[in-house]
Amino acid sequence: MTPFSPAVYADRRRRAAAQAAAAGLAGVLVTPGPDLRYFLGYTPSADTERLTLLAIPAADGDHDGDGDQAVAVVPRLEAHDLEVGAVGGIEAVAWSDGEDEHAVAARLLRPDGRYAISDAAWALHVLGLQRAMPASSYAAVTTVLPMLRAAKSPEEVARLAAAGAGADAVFEQIVTRRFAGRAESEVSADLDALLRSHGHEQVDFTLVCAGENGADPHHEAGNRVIREGDMVVMDFGGLADGYGSDTTRTVHVGAPTAGEQEVHDVVRAAQQAGVDAVRPGATCQDVDRASRAVIADAGFGDWFVHRTGHGIGLTTHEPPYMVEGEETPIEAGMCFSVEPGIYLPGEFGVRIEDIVVAFPSGVPGTADAPDSGVRLNTSPHEMVVVE
Ligand code: ZN
Ligand code: ZN
Ligand code: ZN
Repeated sequence: MTPFSPAVYADRRRRAAAQAAAAGLAGVLVTPGPDLRYFLGYTPSADTERLTLLAIPAADGDHDGDGDQAVAVVPRLEAHDLEVGAVGGIEAVAWSDGEDEHAVAARLLRPDGRYAISDAAWALHVLGLQRAMPASSYAAVTTVLPMLRAAKSPEEVARLAAAGAGADAVFEQIVTRRFAGRAESEVSADLDALLRSHGHEQVDFTLVCAGENGADPHHEAGNRVIREGDMVVMDFGGLADGYGSDTTRTVHVGAPTAGEQEVHDVVRAAQQAGVDAVRPGATCQDVDRASRAVIADAGFGDWFVHRTGHGIGLTTHEPPYMVEGEETPIEAGMCFSVEPGIYLPGEFGVRIEDIVVAFPSGVPGTADAPDSGVRLNTSPHEMVVVE
């Protein structure tokens, strides 16, 4: 992915240091994956058993919180990658094979500190740090600082918008191709190739769920042959220049029945209600409630079996979650899906999903900082009929 300027990463580290202090943590420990990309713009060539760790100590409050005291612990054989990367400005401590890397890291940490650590940190390293510092303790970063990456900067929103536009172009092309007579897996392979042709370096999912398979929200494309009369749910996305796309449309092979059209209309109205709920003062659960109310009022409440949405950024699923009980206020720059659905077992399913950014500023084609959510997907919401 194209790196941002070093100042962007330094700002993010300072914000993490301040949030860690406010949460009573000793700091944030970042391991390879999306957190390391977020705070350092660095992706090691492989996430191996060798420890790579970025330690961001909590701001101590003694000097205006303006220092960036982060330090990276890296395997000596990879230290060069870090130096020549577009990062810099932070101290790196290299350790050599045969050294106890956890003891090396421990010398830079508070021995009795409670640390937030990346969700996907290897147990090998969490246990190693615990052994090196028996009085220390650890919590998953999305448990204690769930909103650390949630509000996106205009530069990040621009990447998400570009990824969304790529996914929309994929939809526009796929519906011109034949569905009837082809297996779900063949259409899925087309979606994969199209995502890659529209700027995606990574494809995370290309679900194609025909007929009764559409009633399973996480059905993987299989050898079911698509037929005239099928509803087909397509949910696809991945990463383009490091940022995620995730969109769902439900199409019909040939003319739909009145009953199928009705279910699609209800989901479409529920999706619009969820987007409309993105207003100043709203919380994440308000989005879920708004979509759910439309579906319940139409009598399909028992068949909307998942939360309404999830955040998206450097990954295709992350906080914040649009779910009952999530009382986090929606902040400017939060990007998340709004994806209600109705799943009728043995019959078919309908889901419609767009990525929405809250109160964006600096997004091409939008008024500056509107008091609403702005869709980053613009594929048609009416049911598209395919052949
Ligand atoms: Zn049908
Ligand atoms: Zn999706
Ligand atoms: Zn989604």
